[in-house]
Amino acid sequence: MKLATCYTVAFFGVQPKLIEVQVQFAPGLPVFTIVGLADKAVAESRERIRACLHGLGMDIPAIRITVNLTPADLQKEGSHYDLPIALAILGVMKIVPIEEIKNYIALGEITLDGRILSVPGVLPSALLSAEHGKGIICPKDCGPEACWGGNICVLAPKYLLEIIQHFRNEIILQQPEPKLEEPNLSGFDMKDVKYQHFAKRGLEIAAAGGHNLLMIGPPGAGKSMLASRLPGILPKLSAKEALDVTVIHSLAGMSPKDGLVKIRPFRDPHHSASLPAMVGGGQKGKPGEISLAHNGVLFLDELPEFSRGCLESLRQPLETGSITIARVQHHYTYPARFQCVAAMNPCRCGYFGDADRQCSRAPKCAQDYQQKISGPMMDRFDLIIPVQALKPEELQAERKEESSYKILLRVENARALQHKRYDCQLRVNAHVDGEMLDKAVRTDKEVDSILQQAIKRYNLSARGYHRLLRVSRTIADLGACENILKQHVLEALSYRI
Ligand SMILES: [Zn+2]
Repeated sequence: MKLATCYTVAFFGVQPKLIEVQVQFAPGLPVFTIVGLADKAVAESRERIRACLHGLGMDIPAIRITVNLTPADLQKEGSHYDLPIALAILGVMKIVPIEEIKNYIALGEITLDGRILSVPGVLPSALLSAEHGKGIICPKDCGPEACWGGNICVLAPKYLLEIIQHFRNEIILQQPEPKLEEPNLSGFDMKDVKYQHFAKRGLEIAAAGGHNLLMIGPPGAGKSMLASRLPGILPKLSAKEALDVTVIHSLAGMSPKDGLVKIRPFRDPHHSASLPAMVGGGQKGKPGEISLAHNGVLFLDELPEFSRGCLESLRQPLETGSITIARVQHHYTYPARFQCVAAMNPCRCGYFGDADRQCSRAPKCAQDYQQKISGPMMDRFDLIIPVQALKPEELQAERKEESSYKILLRVENARALQHKRYDCQLRVNAHVDGEMLDKAVRTDKEVDSILQQAIKRYNLSARGYHRLLRVSRTIADLGACENILKQHVLEALSYRI
C-alpha cells in the first residue's frame, strides 16, 4: 500500500480551514474515487488530473486510487483541489518526493494542457500556511498576493511541470515579489467640484468622524461626483486594514494583480443588485458588495430604488460592522465595516423644491418617494446634505477649489484626536457608544440649552440625540477644540433637516 499527503484549504467566511489530502494506491480494479464531502467541481478533478498527467507522459496506473479529504465533515467546494490532489498522486508515483509535498498547502486549478489557473482565496490560505509553519504552492498570478501572508516559502508555478521540475531539482522556482498597488486617485480630486461648499464640508465631516451620509438633490447636481471623491479624503489604509481588505477581495476572486489593496475600496452597486450580490452568500457563499466595501465606502445611488430587502439587510452591518450569512451547513461571517454614502432625488420625478422646474405632483410625489426608506434606515444617516444643481453661469465659471490633499490633512488631524481620546487606532466618533460618547463630550450651559431646544423642536429620540452629539464632536475635532461649543452644535443641526 502506498500513501502520500499534501495540504489545502476549505473556505468558511474569512477564516479558511486546513484540509489534509491523502492519496492511496491499492491493488484492485482500476477506480478513482474522491471521498470527504466533495462537490461536483472537486469530483471533476479526477478527469482534469488524469488528462493532464497523460499529456505530460505520466499516466496514472490502472489500479485502485482513493483520495480522502479530511476532516470529512466539512463541505469541499471549488476547483482549487486539483493541484494538491495531483501533487499527492505524483508523490505516490514517486515523481515528486513525498516528504517534501507534505510541507505545503497547495491550491490551484489544472487545465488539460498542464497550466495552473488562478483561484480565489490565496491570501487567507497563505496566512493559514504561516500559522501552520508550512509553505504555499499557488498559481503564478497569485504569487505576489501569497507573499503578504507572512514569512513563508511561496512557490508560484505557471505550469504543473514547473513544480515537478522544482521538486526534482531540475529548475529552481524563485520566490515571487510582494508588490503594492500604487494608489491611483488622479481624476478623483475634490478640486474638480465647483462650488458645492456645503456638501464638501459635509463630506469632510463624514470623512473625519466616519459618519454615514445621505445626499438629496435633483438629477445632475453632482451627487455621484461628490461621493466618488470621498475615498480621496479618507486616511490611508493601515497595514492591518489593507490586509483585511485584500483577504476579502481574494475570497471574492478579485485580488489586484500586484498583491495588496492599498486604496480604500469604493463600491457602487447598481440599485437592481440582488440580495446575495449585496450582502454575500449565494451558491458559493462569496462576500457581497458590503464586505467588498469593508474599510471603505459603499455608495448607494438612487437609494429608494433599492429593494426593501436589500436596504433592511444593511441595518445589521451598519450597526455591528459584520454580516452573518446562513447556509445549509454553516454560518459565514464576513467583516463589513463600511461608510455608507447614499444619494437620492428629492421626489420620483426629481424636481421637487427646484426653482426652475416644477415637480408635477408635489408634495405627494416627494412624500411617496421618501417613504420608501424606512425610519430605522433613515436613522443610520448622521448627516443629511441637500445638494443643489449649479446654475449655468456657475458651471462655466473659472474657479480654483481646494484640493483633496488639503482636506485630507484636516481629516487626519481630526482622526488623530479621536484615536487618542478613545485610545484605539481604529475607533472614530461614528462608532462610539452612548456611554463612551458622554465621557467624550463636554458642554457648557449655553450648549446644553441649545441641545434641549433641538430635542423638543425636532422631536429627537435618544438615538437621534446621540447622533447629533457625535457629529458635533467631529466638528469640534476638525476645529481642534476640546469642548463642544455652540457653533459646533448649530453646524451639526444644519445637516439634520
Ligand atoms: Zn416630483
